[in-house]
Amino acid sequence: VRGVDIFTYRGEYDKGYEDLREQMEPIFIANWKMNLFEKEALAFVRDLAVPKTGSVIIAPPATLLFPLKQAIKGKSLALCGQNFFFEEKGAYTGELSASQLKDSGASYALIGHSERRHYFNESDAWIHQKLKSALAHHLIPILCVGETLDEKEEGKEEEVLSKQLHTALEGSDEKALSSLVIAYEPVWAIGTGLAADLFLIERGHAFIRKWLEKHYPAIATKIPILYGGSVNEKNAASFLSLQEVAGLLVGGASLAAPPFNAIIRS
Ligand code: PEP
Repeated sequence: VRGVDIFTYRGEYDKGYEDLREQMEPIFIANWKMNLFEKEALAFVRDLAVPKTGSVIIAPPATLLFPLKQAIKGKSLALCGQNFFFEEKGAYTGELSASQLKDSGASYALIGHSERRHYFNESDAWIHQKLKSALAHHLIPILCVGETLDEKEEGKEEEVLSKQLHTALEGSDEKALSSLVIAYEPVWAIGTGLAADLFLIERGHAFIRKWLEKHYPAIATKIPILYGGSVNEKNAASFLSLQEVAGLLVGGASLAAPPFNAIIRS
């Protein structure tokens, strides 16, 4: 399957999920990471196009949540926190809580992004606590999962995904999880310019969907699974053509309106 024209490939893993796309409007997330200042953020919102279909969520640095909360008034845009600490409040210098994120205008929160896992040593157990805190404060969790290059080369993708999902979601009430969004982000594809091919994306997404069906049958088909990893204006349409890809989590190509507009219009 590998090596086929990615713009025409429709693979075996899509079978059985044909009607999922009709149920889910795509979600586009701009993850700015530690980039942009107020002036650039406001210009981005001013220049942002309306997606062809679906919704747009901006995940700015925490310092920009409040100004963006004002700037997006009257627009159909939502905000997402890149990070928070799971405790309610207290002596945690430098941290902010889920309820503070909500107060600053966020309705979503990224949880388990590979950069947090790897640069800041966030464990699965920690991610589990964050997920619980997000749900308790009605912040919609965007749980990021994905294997590293080493794990991929050892053929451990499913083992890794399964462990990450298990630990993060364990013990959570099925009903509470119905707002959950999952992003499949192979670590080796993030910020490298090496996006996963359609075969690997379908396989990863299908595995996650099957895992959800097994553990949370009542809500499994309602949970959007996004793809993230070197998405750009050239490859976005091919990813969106997969039934199982319910949207895109975009890093580098979301730092300016023109490339991001091309993605949300594709
Ligand atoms: C990300 O931030 O999750 C991401 C996928 O980044 P990039 O698009 O730059 O690979």
